[in-house]
Amino acid sequence: MFQTDVLIVGAGPVGLTLACDLARRGVTCQIIERDATANRASKAKTIQPRSLEVLDDLGAVEHVVRHGVADLPLRFHDSSGGVVDRPSITVRARDSFRTPYPDPLWIGQFDVEHALRERLHQLGGSVEHRVEAVGLVQDEDGVTASLRAPDGDRAVRARYVVGTDGGKSTVRRLLGLPLEGETREWERWYIGDVTVDGLDRDHMHLWTSDDGMLVLTPLPHSDLWQLQAPVPAGVEPDSPTRELYQRLLDERNAGITLTSASWLSVYRVNIRMLTDYRSGRVLFAGDAAHVHTPAGGQGMNTGIQDAYNLGWKLGAVVGGASPDLLDTYSAERAPVARTVLALSTEKLDRTTPRIGGDPDTLGAALGELADDAVTTGLGIHYGRCSGDLAEGPVAGDRAPNATGLHGPGFTGALFDLTRGPQWTLIAFDNDDPALINRTIPTVLHVHRINTDHGIIDGDGEFQRIFAPRRGELILIRPDGYLAARVPEDRAADLFDCLPFPVPVR
Ligand SMILES: Cc1cc2nc3c(=O)[nH]c(=O)nc-3n(C[C@H](O)[C@H](O)[C@H](O)COP(=O)(O)OP(=O)(O)OC[C@H]3O[C@@H](n4cnc5c(N)ncnc54)[C@H](O)[C@@H]3O)c2cc1C
Repeated sequence: MFQTDVLIVGAGPVGLTLACDLARRGVTCQIIERDATANRASKAKTIQPRSLEVLDDLGAVEHVVRHGVADLPLRFHDSSGGVVDRPSITVRARDSFRTPYPDPLWIGQFDVEHALRERLHQLGGSVEHRVEAVGLVQDEDGVTASLRAPDGDRAVRARYVVGTDGGKSTVRRLLGLPLEGETREWERWYIGDVTVDGLDRDHMHLWTSDDGMLVLTPLPHSDLWQLQAPVPAGVEPDSPTRELYQRLLDERNAGITLTSASWLSVYRVNIRMLTDYRSGRVLFAGDAAHVHTPAGGQGMNTGIQDAYNLGWKLGAVVGGASPDLLDTYSAERAPVARTVLALSTEKLDRTTPRIGGDPDTLGAALGELADDAVTTGLGIHYGRCSGDLAEGPVAGDRAPNATGLHGPGFTGALFDLTRGPQWTLIAFDNDDPALINRTIPTVLHVHRINTDHGIIDGDGEFQRIFAPRRGELILIRPDGYLAARVPEDRAADLFDCLPFPVPVR
């Protein structure tokens, strides 16, 4: 009766992240994409530390790390040919986050999507191109989607549908759900992917003028540059063409020749979101759920992290857990988007008046776009399930990585123990033999970390980070968040946090 457990509409970075996560859980999923080919537009050009952790867990990080660039200093050009150099505007995550990926990486969105598509293939999935969702009807048991494809229209019956179909989401429109917020008609940017002659690729290049700055950012692992320039206030934008973009450079005396232009667009600032990311059996993630200003580079990153929060919950519910679990998705992720909307708007408003300034003013303004708690994604906190051990990270926090663990057959870090689709229970200096019986290979892994036997906290880093009490039990969700920390005599509370029964065998 169901052709698939989950139908994902839209194969941008968010849909692809979700497809990878579901595929590795053995959840059947179909991912459709209206466009005939993979996206070749750069759009997002930085990936943040938390998103890199997500890609690591999904097995898709290697390509991104190999091709991304951590340090991209600014080079300001004046109209007489002078240059002034300033440091990169990305912010390295503070050490206390304990991440293997402290540096945001500059990389075109198409490369991130490439890594995810390749991983999806490895997991046995693939995107169905030229297939567009045009209708949706949901009932108590499932959703019937009408799809339009070159070989004719067809219907697909799925248990759940996820709209990852971007800011103009058809799925959202079919359900009549409004994106609440504002559109800033007067704040528009020319944008495009271009090739140029005679510019070094080790810098982001900026030209300032009374009409605003023009930025050329090299996109690693390609010969492309992303061009951005504001449409002057009060002026209707012209059609974006290579000739127009060449004129914008010439007006700034850049002395640069555009040799080609591929993606050409006008970007309009929208600050909007859905109040609830769930409508029955239909869920939303990424731009379909929230759109905001580009300040701080958060769109793709927030969306990837939405999908990662949703993947394990959908997997659990398809596997028999209560559908109420899906309500926690919007409850956890909508407040994150609300913060991103507020902060990115505030940052844009603070930066815009300084855009015509000298390199120091502008460099400082751009440097304020990123911060290590919000933009890195590492400081995001979710509501707690339980947890009353005050020291170290608590339930609802991301579990930091602890390195220097070793034991029989294992040398590595906490992230090596948690990597994969399962829940992880860490028992610290706890030899209760019953615990190991709780292991369910694909769903819950139990590991003991000890001071003197088994997996040993060799460098003491696990203890420095978590400050665990002797015998403590630490439950980590599949998305790397702490679900609960309890003393050894309260194991039952901890198992109550799980969305499935854990029999003692
Ligand atoms: C100029 C610019 C700069 C940006 N910079 C950054 C940055 O530095 N950092 C950052 O994190 N974000 C940035 N973003 C935002 C980022 O590009 C988006 O947040 C991201 O693309 C959202 O991904 P998504 O998968 O939700 O949607 P999309 O990437 O829009 O993908 C949606 C997909 O759904 C498909 N689709 C639509 N309707 C249907 C349908 N009915 N049936 C089937 N398929 C359908 C579309 O063809 C598309 O491929 C930037 C965006 C722009 C434009």
